[in-house]
This record gives sequence, C-alpha cells and structure tokens, in this order.
Amino acid sequence: MFSDLGLGPELLNRIEEIGYTQPTPIQEKAIPMVLQGRDILGCAQTGTGKTASFTLPMIEILAAGRARARMPRSLILEPTRELAAQVAKDFEKYGKYHKLSMALLIGGESFGDQIKRLDRGVDVLIATPGRMIDLFERGNILLSDIKVFVIDEADRMLDMGFIPDIERIVSLLPKMRQTLFFSATMPPEIRRLADAFLSNPREITVAPPASPAATVTQALAVLPREAKRKALRRLLSHEDTLNALIFCNRKRDVSILHRSLQRHGFSVGCLHGDMPQNRRTETLEAFRNGAVSLLVCSDVAARGLDIAGLSHVFNFDVPINAEDYVHRIGRTGRAGRSGRAYTLATPDDTRQVAAIERLIQREIPRIVIDGFDSPALEEDEDKRPRRSKSRGRAKDREREATGERRRSDRSHAERPSGERGQGERAAAERGAADRGRATEASRSRSRRRRSIRDGEGEMDVVVGEAGVLADDGDLRPPREMRRRRRDDDDQADEKVIGFGDHIPAFMIRPARVTSDREV
Ligand code: AMP
Repeated sequence: MFSDLGLGPELLNRIEEIGYTQPTPIQEKAIPMVLQGRDILGCAQTGTGKTASFTLPMIEILAAGRARARMPRSLILEPTRELAAQVAKDFEKYGKYHKLSMALLIGGESFGDQIKRLDRGVDVLIATPGRMIDLFERGNILLSDIKVFVIDEADRMLDMGFIPDIERIVSLLPKMRQTLFFSATMPPEIRRLADAFLSNPREITVAPPASPAATVTQALAVLPREAKRKALRRLLSHEDTLNALIFCNRKRDVSILHRSLQRHGFSVGCLHGDMPQNRRTETLEAFRNGAVSLLVCSDVAARGLDIAGLSHVFNFDVPINAEDYVHRIGRTGRAGRSGRAYTLATPDDTRQVAAIERLIQREIPRIVIDGFDSPALEEDEDKRPRRSKSRGRAKDREREATGERRRSDRSHAERPSGERGQGERAAAERGAADRGRATEASRSRSRRRRSIRDGEGEMDVVVGEAGVLADDGDLRPPREMRRRRRDDDDQADEKVIGFGDHIPAFMIRPARVTSDREV
C-alpha cells in the first residue's frame, strides 16, 4: 500500500487521482529508504516504476524548505534530452499539489530561459550532463546546496561517454548529500562508480539485468541487405501495426529509410540526435498523440521512452550492442500489454545476433518472409564488423544521443572567456589535476568496456522455429506467436492507466534488498 511508505497526504491523494493502486516492487523498497535519507543503488529497468520511486520521496523531502537563487536543492541527471523531459513531466504530474519549482536543463534550447529560471531559484534541476556543465561553467549554477542527487540510467551514461562529465559534476557537489543511483545493468565499471559515489547504500534489485519483458513477442528474419526496405514494408502492411518505432543504427540510414517510407505513403516521422531540439520534441509529440504512426529513429529513442500502447518495434538494423536490443524492444510490451519486436538481420550480422541471444539467454525465433531470399547467417569470422568501425559507430551514437557537442570537443577558442564565472574558473583550475586523474581512469574503463562490447567471443549460430509471411499477406508465425496474437486482440479495448489493474509478471517478482554494504 502506498500509505505504508511514509508519503504525506497530498502525495497519497495525487497517487490515487493518477490511478496507481499499489506500489511497484522498487517503489515499495526504495521510497521508505529515500525518506529515511539513505543512499540507494537501484538495479532496475525502465518500465518498473523507478521514476516514481525517486521522484515521489524527493517531492516529500523538498516540500520542507525553500530554494535560493542559482542554488538548486536537488539534481537529477539523465542521459538523453527525451528522458530528462519525461522525468520533468513525471515530476510535474506527481508534484501537482506541491509548490516546487523545477528547471529542465537540456541542450538544443535557449540558454536565456534556463538561466532566468535558475536565477529565480529552483528546487529541482533535471539535466543532461553536457548542458549542466555548460551552465555551471558560465557561472549560472552553484551546486553547493544540492541535498539529493540522482543519477539515472548510469549504464547508458557509460555507453555515451558521459562518465568523465559525471565525475566532474560529483566533484562539485557537497560531500553531505543523499545520492540515488539507478542502472538497468550493473557491469563492473558501474559498480565501481557506485562505490565511489554512494555512501553505505541500500541495494535494491527488481529485475534480472537485461531480460526483455515477457510480454514482447520477438522474431528475426535474415535477408539480403538490399531487400530490407521492401521486407519492412511487407511486414508493416501485413501486421496490425498500430504504431511502431523502427530503429536504424546510423543517423544517415534513419533519414534514408524515413524518406523511403514517406514515398511509399506511410504515416512516418523520424528522430535522431542531429535534429534541432524543437523538431525532436514536435516529432515525439506527434508520435505520442497518433498524428504519425511510425517513427524511424536512432538509439536516442531506445531508452526509457514511455509511449503508451506501442504495438511494434522493428530493428531495421541489428543493434551493435546487445543491451541496446533489450532497450529497443522494451519500448513495446509495456504496462502489461503485449507487443511485437521484429529484427531484420543480414547474413553478416552473425556476431551481433549471437551476442544478443547470449544476453537474453534464448533464441530469437526466425521467420521467413515469403517471396524474399532467406540466406543463412554468415559463419565467416572475417566478415564480422571490425573493432575500429564499431568504435566509430559507438562514438557516433554518443554524440547523437543528446545532440550536444561533447564538452571536450569545445576548444577554448570557441568559449569566450567572459562566459565563465571568475570564481568558477579558479575552482576549475584547482580541481583540474584531480579530475584529470579521475577522467583518465574512467576513460580507460570505457575503453575496456568497449573492447568487451566489440566482442571477442566465439560464434554461436542458432536457428529457431520459423514462421512464414505468405504472399497472400498472411503472416504465419510460430505457434507461440499465434497464441499471443489472440491474447492481444482480447486486450485491444482495455484502457490502461499506468499499469491499470495488471502489473506485468516481471515486476511482481519480489525486490531483493541485500544487506547494507560498507563503501
Ligand atoms: P518508469 O519505470 O518510471 O518508466 O515507469 C513506467 C510506467 O509505469 C509509467 O507509465 C508510470 O506512469 C507507470 N507507473 C509507475 N508507478 C506505477 C504504479 N505504482 N502503478 C501503476 N503504474 C505505475
């Protein structure tokens, strides 16, 4: 029961109005701990209710006290602008009966408005790391009053190369603070950061790392590269695609596929990190409200986006990092509804497919699309993606995900010295040596991680049960998929608020609270 967690009457009323009947496992475990002032290490994916697990108690904590100009009282760091905007929306939704002020600091929007907000004093700052540091360096924010600090999606931050920025931000925060650290997975690099940032944290794990929701039905077709666009159109036409995200690995391919689908008369938008922020926001809004039903996107849309009732995810390209597969397909099958995820692979995607299947510990059932060649996955190791190429792409993804230029890309010549506050400049110089060391350590961690990601493991080709998309337009999927499809139809008209009455099975798994760890 929410009323057992220590939240005040305004929040309990608000939760009831929103329609949540019972806390999710992470909320049940985290909320009382946060209210007691404890640090939290939460291993939880999006979709588990983790945003409310930190925003609700933060609202309660911040309700007592007032913000001073340029001295925010709490800080939430998010890896992408879209996630930051979504958390800001949730904050407003839950905090309707509290007079807390909030500033959303994301790239691609005018500094002027953000600075004005900061000057008035804010209780909560929700930011992406790049813009946060820019504003700090301009002298517009003082971080010495931060009482609650949240790092969300830490593993994503690592993938995007943000860890040096985060280490810098942490070095500017007061030592006496409460830190809430969330990550979908806990690789050793993330664990080390958690050890460095948290003090005697309570550790809460609510889902095994990187397990796709049981409500997502998956299938994979192997096709010649040049057949993929046509095959995708075939799938789109013959599936009951209400709305779908279509993921490409590269921005250039997002644009090409977007134009191609438009030419073929599909209602389609596109989203990637090189687009101006106002277009990113507009496009996402158009997709959310149904004005366009397909969205071709890069991995900028893969994490955390909560789009109600998304029926399909298509991987037009097999993601390079196996974890991205889990995040991409996790956009569907949310809130207890079922969803479908199709992946179009080419014969040389062997290693990526094998890595995904190892991660999710199951085969992705193969389908054959009638009328299309269905070559086998390549077994020739020489044809696998080379490390340098994949590194280049990883870098590309880092840059495009926030659309912000990396801080290290900005030469001093580009930054007028007047942009920096004097005191801050001195502080920056004082801390430079220490931070340099921390940054190098973190870079080498990122390098290590990438070399693991690029995969040295052996190939492991598996062929699952095949389904057939016939020329008469009838997709005959594997038996398991057909069964689920009937279930979909049964639920078609059900109105769901949050999780409604149905909490997905993977969320009901009891949270594991491990004993306190001394850090
Ligand atoms: P999150 O993991 O924070 O992305 O949340 C996923 C979805 O769950 C969001 O749509 C929330 O509105 C919804 N949600 C969060 N907490 C609850 C709850 N206790 N009951 C039902 N739905 C919830």
